[in-house]
Amino acid sequence: MLTFQQLPSIVQGREVQAVQPLPIVHLLTDSRKLSQPAGTLFFAIRGRYNDGHRYLAQLYMQGVRQFVVEQGEPEELRQLYPEANLLLVENALEALQKLAAWHRGQFHIPVVGITGSNGKTIVKEWLAQLLSPDEMVVKSPRSYNSQLGVPLSVWQLDQHHTFGIFEAGISQPGEMEKLQQIIRPTLGIFTNIGSAHDEGFGSHQQKVAEKLKLFKEVDLLFYCADHTLIDEAVQAQGITSFTWSRSQPADVYITAATTVGHKTIIEYIYKAEKQRLAIPFTDEASVENALHCLAVLLYRRLPLSEIQDRLDRLHPVAMRLEMKEAINGCYLIDDTYNNDLAGLAIALDLLVNQPQRGRRTVILSDLLESGLPEEKLYRQVAELVQARGVERLIAIGEKISRYSSLFRVPAEFYMSTADFLAQFNPARFRDELMLVKGARVFGFEKIVQAFQQKVHGTVLEVNLDALVHNLNYYRSKLAPGTRLMVMVKAFAYGSGSFEVANLLQFHRADYLAVAYVDEGVALREQGITLPIMVMNPSPDSFAKLRQYSLEPEIYALEQLQAYIASLSASAIYKIHLKLDTGMHRLGFTEDDFDALFDLLQQHPQVQVVSAFSHLAGADEAVHNDFSQQQISTFRKMAAVVEGRLGYRVIKHILNSAGIVRFPQHQLDMVRLGIGIYGVEATGDEQEALRPVSTLKTTVSQVKHIRQGETVGYSRKGVADADKTIATIAIGYADGYDRRFSNGTGQVLIHGQRCPIIGNVCMDMCMVDVTGLEVKAGDEVILFGPQLTLVELAKSIGTIPYELLTNVSSRVKRVFYSE
Ligand SMILES: *Cc1c(COP(=O)(O)O)cnc(C)c1O
Repeated sequence: MLTFQQLPSIVQGREVQAVQPLPIVHLLTDSRKLSQPAGTLFFAIRGRYNDGHRYLAQLYMQGVRQFVVEQGEPEELRQLYPEANLLLVENALEALQKLAAWHRGQFHIPVVGITGSNGKTIVKEWLAQLLSPDEMVVKSPRSYNSQLGVPLSVWQLDQHHTFGIFEAGISQPGEMEKLQQIIRPTLGIFTNIGSAHDEGFGSHQQKVAEKLKLFKEVDLLFYCADHTLIDEAVQAQGITSFTWSRSQPADVYITAATTVGHKTIIEYIYKAEKQRLAIPFTDEASVENALHCLAVLLYRRLPLSEIQDRLDRLHPVAMRLEMKEAINGCYLIDDTYNNDLAGLAIALDLLVNQPQRGRRTVILSDLLESGLPEEKLYRQVAELVQARGVERLIAIGEKISRYSSLFRVPAEFYMSTADFLAQFNPARFRDELMLVKGARVFGFEKIVQAFQQKVHGTVLEVNLDALVHNLNYYRSKLAPGTRLMVMVKAFAYGSGSFEVANLLQFHRADYLAVAYVDEGVALREQGITLPIMVMNPSPDSFAKLRQYSLEPEIYALEQLQAYIASLSASAIYKIHLKLDTGMHRLGFTEDDFDALFDLLQQHPQVQVVSAFSHLAGADEAVHNDFSQQQISTFRKMAAVVEGRLGYRVIKHILNSAGIVRFPQHQLDMVRLGIGIYGVEATGDEQEALRPVSTLKTTVSQVKHIRQGETVGYSRKGVADADKTIATIAIGYADGYDRRFSNGTGQVLIHGQRCPIIGNVCMDMCMVDVTGLEVKAGDEVILFGPQLTLVELAKSIGTIPYELLTNVSSRVKRVFYSE
């Protein structure tokens, strides 16, 4: 087993201290994912948004004893971490990559490297599934294909594996060479080339050339010769290949592809012989992905009947983890596609970074295709489940049941999914977060169904990854040390306060702000511990405010008097002072200052933690002069505040638009609102953000009407020709604005824009779908990435804020992570 003593020679670093010869079993780059401190080696990596060195002390306290760091004086490091093995390197990410490359060198098995613009993850998952009857396959978890993900993927290699499949993704020149050295594929698959990540490359040719570097040492490269750019480059480099094509003779020459029901029948010529197979998909992307896999199976000389057998069992790959509302206040994370160890670790991370809603339950099937001996496998599962704080395990399957004695957490064991369902009692589940993770054959979707509430067909989908992306985008604009307050008022702008707040807590925002005390109380009750400012606390809620450690915004003298009158014990009470610099909504003016500071002087237990003001027109350039004036007024007033108080306070004035427009005035903190929810209020940098919310419903009924007939209330929708119309299950009571009536609004059905016909009703409305194939049950998108809030708001003369916050609470929120 590898020990720390070998590390300096492998990754070329300076040994600062080697206290004990510890084994290196787990590599850690994200302090939040620590599970087994013993045997963990932490790499302090500096990224664009974060710096691993910030977490050294915390990890040391949690028992980690091996670190690779980039900075720090050796003497000081030894003092801080007297019991730790420490290695100082120039670049911790490169050190991780070197270690993974060394690890890869210990194994002499076939390894497939996959790259290309699309389909990498699906080809990887399918190929692993197709080969698993003959091989012990190790593969990248989910889409771990980056400079960081690849080394972590390759680190999983173990002596039991007989076959490796790893994907590689790059966004700029120079990256593939590094990934090649870590994966060192013996076989390659180049899926295709598209326009994704174009910005990093001068041309498509350059992109192809860069990606081809992965295959520098392969014995054979699989690709589709119809991608001419790829074909030309491969030929020019003389790489030995195995090709398939629909248009020209190739190793596998596809002569026909016909859709029959849910299958695509392909006919092809292989080794001068005509063959035919059915692929259990009809969409083009899936067929292409399956053909790459087919090429590998043919090359491995599997009998045709066996290939057909295995293809028949392919299933769509769920590319994201969904969090769904379930019975009795429960939420569940639906991960019913496959069940392997690395995927389990990732799904458990999502569970950990979600609620402390009562308890965390995991429903888990046998793990298939792990490549590990069973006892070792379930021992690892047991450790993982325990380390992630799972409070109840429901284990389903004969194998996992056999190892029940290894599990330390409260656990129940069932032999099969049917056994579990037969004994299913909904009353045993309340206010908990459940991870439902099972290998395909266990059919866990039946369990998900049993747990799911019947939802009214309309949902607001919230993309948690997009939220994090947007958070990080604004964060990247902040000067070091500038704090970040995130506004989660109005149900987090309609997106779900608790889930958003929880995510922000996990991603270490500094402050949250809500409008009313009840909103803050709800967050506290669900386990949010971040400091929370309440912008409009009413006097009758002061007691609650303190009971839940919420911090009031104080904007008027009488309000402060009432607050002070409500105080009892001699504790410290934190408040935030709102200053009016021109918005003329709430806040103190300089005229109030004498009385204000007299009062504060008499009550030193009241501590001003921050002073702030709000810009009235930061989103519009025409108001730039006014905004500048507000900022300079604020700076002057805040200086007076600090002078009169005799201590420093956190000063803040910028909202989302202000962060973009006035970066030089971040002061001590900024207040991020609409931006994190995906709308860039100035409009200048909208492309940098990712849309967060998609509002969806379904078609209830489709009708054909004749020219001259009318649709809906007041007979406002008049058919100017024979039409097909669809009634969809959303109305103004769901927050779909009535101003969208009569053609002003459009919705997306199958990617096509369909105008609203007639007036929007309370729970429904009608759309014109003439010429489209639409049926009851089809999905309808009201807004989302392809139909933006900005565009829709403009069409009815309002702002995206209103559309977002109007989505009614009867619309279910579904949270997902990609
Ligand atoms: C809502 C709010 C913000 C956030 O504004 P955005 O335009 O959404 O960024 C900031 N400060 C105060 C006082 C607010 O009420």
